[in-house]
Amino acid sequence: MIRINENYLKLKASYLFSDIAKRIATYQEANPDSSIIKLGIGDVTEPLPETCRVAFHAAIDEMGTHAGFHGYGPEQGYAFLREAIAANDFQSRGADISADEVFVSDGAKCDSGNFQEIFADNIKIAVPDPMYPVYVDTNVMAGRTGENVNDRYEGFVYLESTPENGYVPTIPSEPVDLVYLCFPNNPTGAAATREQLTAWVDYAKASGALILFDAAYAGFVRDESLPQSIYEIEGAKEVAIEFRSFSKNAGFTGTRCAYTIVPKDLKAEDSSGAMHSVHALWNRRHCTKFNGVSYPVQKAAEAVYSDAGKAEVKALTDFYLANAKIVRSEIESLGLSCVGGDNSPYVWINANRPSWDFFDTLLNEAGVACTPGAGFGSCGEGHIRISAFNSRSNVEEAMKRIRSALAEGSVGV
Ligand SMILES: *Cc1c(COP(=O)(O)O)cnc(C)c1O
Repeated sequence: MIRINENYLKLKASYLFSDIAKRIATYQEANPDSSIIKLGIGDVTEPLPETCRVAFHAAIDEMGTHAGFHGYGPEQGYAFLREAIAANDFQSRGADISADEVFVSDGAKCDSGNFQEIFADNIKIAVPDPMYPVYVDTNVMAGRTGENVNDRYEGFVYLESTPENGYVPTIPSEPVDLVYLCFPNNPTGAAATREQLTAWVDYAKASGALILFDAAYAGFVRDESLPQSIYEIEGAKEVAIEFRSFSKNAGFTGTRCAYTIVPKDLKAEDSSGAMHSVHALWNRRHCTKFNGVSYPVQKAAEAVYSDAGKAEVKALTDFYLANAKIVRSEIESLGLSCVGGDNSPYVWINANRPSWDFFDTLLNEAGVACTPGAGFGSCGEGHIRISAFNSRSNVEEAMKRIRSALAEGSVGV
């Protein structure tokens, strides 16, 4: 009989979104006239920028002609997009990344999940807590952990993000080989400073570790003193991979386009101690298992870097950031502390009580659904995530309801 990969049996089923849906359904049954506002959305809500849509459309029309038809393209992406990425997202910020270090793909989820494949089975891995679940689950599938005990897999080093460290994890005291970092963070919205990222890069250089840096939210950074890319840090090209996506900044969650930077300077060793190029290994993996992003989608992504595209993407992210600002200032004025929302579309609220309790309070007293932090890892307990991906009117109405529910005294803050 065909046998399964038993590592899959170790995966903890995620009940987070089904639990949320159940509680919402129960509330809706009891309150049929109330309209619930969902502030838990992890997907964008605004349409594609016009410049992207026009470029997308023109490329589709081209595909219908003999002269403009495109079959299989380069697996790594078309030069027009790789060059625009290198010039605009890196070189313009003083990060020395070249077009041939860019691998275009159909998602930062796939890339951040797949990258571990090129490393040994027995490496030591550090993951953030709370975290984007892809980093953990893909390593569980690959057999790099033991069982899940009390919400934590045996074998991982968990990098705790807590109120004490401002939700930016400190460097582990034990040696690790691979480190997953995400800034601005999902779910906390926290951004790392130049000094904090420099400490991670210096640690990786000194210890031989490699950093997988998820910068899917780089387009939301507004504080110019904060790095948007890890390659703005001296020496990062020798120790870090970076994942980027057009999903959140340009609304490509349903269009699908992302990219990964694999610098040519990056080396990793084999069991004999001989050094190998990580770029060459990833190129081999990418060309073997991936056949490129469609031409119209890459043309739509290229349009992000036109003058009009830049202005539209800025307006789009500004819109979500303005929502986040409303959330953050309302929450703070109610006496709760929070992080994020200033350089990120997420606000992470310290609820000072179990996160599901606060979820229930907001649902039952205000008709507002958020995301309980405990669903993102042990350190998420006691917190909730509010997302700025919504209409302005929903955000304003939700905050008005929360204010009156909490101010009425029906809820102790
Ligand atoms: C949304 C998100 C991504 C982007 O994934 P895509 O597959 O490119 O849509 C990557 N990392 C994090 C942390 C995210 O929240």
